[in-house]
Amino acid sequence: MTQLGTESQPLRIAILGSGPAGFYLAEKLFKMPELVVEIDMYDRLPAPFGLVRFGVAPDHEKIKNVTRVFEKVASRPNFRFYGNVEVGKHIRLDALKEHYHQICYATGAQTDRRMGIPGEDLRRSHAATEFVAWYNSHPAYRDCQFDLSAERVAVVGVGNVAVDVARMLCRTREELEITDIADYALTALSESRIKEVYMLGRRGPAQAAFTNPELKELGELPGADIAVVPEETELDPLSGASLDESQDKAILRRMEILQSFIGRSGGDKPCKLSLRFLVSPVELLSDSTGGVAGMRLVKNELYEAGDGTLRPRSTDVFEELSVDMVFRSVGYRGLPVPGLPFDESLGIVPNQKGRVVGSDAAEPIVGLYVAGWIKRGPTGVIGTNKSDAAETVDAMLEDVNRGNVLQPKHPRAEALEVFVRKNQRDLVSFADWQRLNELETAEGVRQGRPRVKFASVEAMMTALKRR
Ligand code: NAP
Repeated sequence: MTQLGTESQPLRIAILGSGPAGFYLAEKLFKMPELVVEIDMYDRLPAPFGLVRFGVAPDHEKIKNVTRVFEKVASRPNFRFYGNVEVGKHIRLDALKEHYHQICYATGAQTDRRMGIPGEDLRRSHAATEFVAWYNSHPAYRDCQFDLSAERVAVVGVGNVAVDVARMLCRTREELEITDIADYALTALSESRIKEVYMLGRRGPAQAAFTNPELKELGELPGADIAVVPEETELDPLSGASLDESQDKAILRRMEILQSFIGRSGGDKPCKLSLRFLVSPVELLSDSTGGVAGMRLVKNELYEAGDGTLRPRSTDVFEELSVDMVFRSVGYRGLPVPGLPFDESLGIVPNQKGRVVGSDAAEPIVGLYVAGWIKRGPTGVIGTNKSDAAETVDAMLEDVNRGNVLQPKHPRAEALEVFVRKNQRDLVSFADWQRLNELETAEGVRQGRPRVKFASVEAMMTALKRR
């Protein structure tokens, strides 16, 4: 019998999802010495790169340079991109199993977590994740409506997504018009009447999830004065004791940055950005038309949870914050994947080092793997997906060596191509994407921006002369 992973019998792998997790997985596989692998990457959107295109904030252009690494992966002769193909809609998992030895889901976390408080569904109360997808031209979110006539906005959560949203709300037209922000979002944000943005952390500054460069940037915005409540930039006794012991450099630096914000709220910039800590929203208040008119907050204190972390606990001190728009930014959440087990509590596909296992954590399911946020939950920066993917690749190759793989009836690239084209005539290859990329960047050059994105599948198909 010929050995799998050789010229005569290449290892055939499908990766579902073309974000960082999928591309780092492909990169690692291609780098394995003496392994002959053919990788087909699927995405339900015509454009690749997942959260690098649809998540990274428009004003953080440099972070997007990582796509150069992904383009190099895509240039390998044994790589194919099947964009605009949705597994579960155009082709079924069962059918994929007839074409591949291994299938890895790198589909990310496609929805958001909720606060679970009364009033959460009022008008002008939104998921930050939707706002992010909207300003980044995600075709499924371009029609979302955000009433930016609001003057006072609360962003709940103090992670990097909350920072992105708060910062974008405070940016001026001059700052935004040189980015790749969606045109409709540029217009809406430029005409917005926002005067005050609050970021609300339920724990103290030492426990905030944002990173220091992102925090520092909030103090450097041309269009917004930064404000903090001085007492809230002090550490509570438990956090203080913990920091004394750990001397964690990142937290020490964070405290320095925060304290440098004290006394800076009185400037004359058009907007004020206030950072608050140790407060939780308990209710969103409504106006007579069902829109957000305020937020009731409770002051929290921290206590030591059994697992060594400091958790928030409400006190009996309440305050009302007058806001007319709310973005909850309390984390992304994975959605169940049709045909795969799902851990509802964690929002991930249950797995052991990337091998999909049944909900009872029994034996791994042959041939099925996960990488990225659908594997570990929505944590970490883009680069975190590199080590995450490496772990999944280790598991995949161990299984190849043990012969624990699917037994595809049609293990030939040509057969797959015919099959996919039969099911989705509008599929977008990597060459097609490169054409779209050229058109977007050419329009960007004309407008003095990095690119002008196509914001709908229709527009992309028209540009490819398929309509
Ligand atoms: P995150 O980092 O997990 O932050 C979530 C925030 O929501 C935390 O402050 C959390 O507080 C808070 N939260 C959770 N439940 C809450 C509740 N019920 N009420 C109030 N607050 C609540 O998630 P994220 O901001 O969505 O970011 C996802 C990942 O993408 C992160 O790893 C992030 O670093 C990364 N990212 C990076 C960048 C960048 O590098 N520039 C940009 C965007 C995103 P607790 O800590 O108390 O739970």
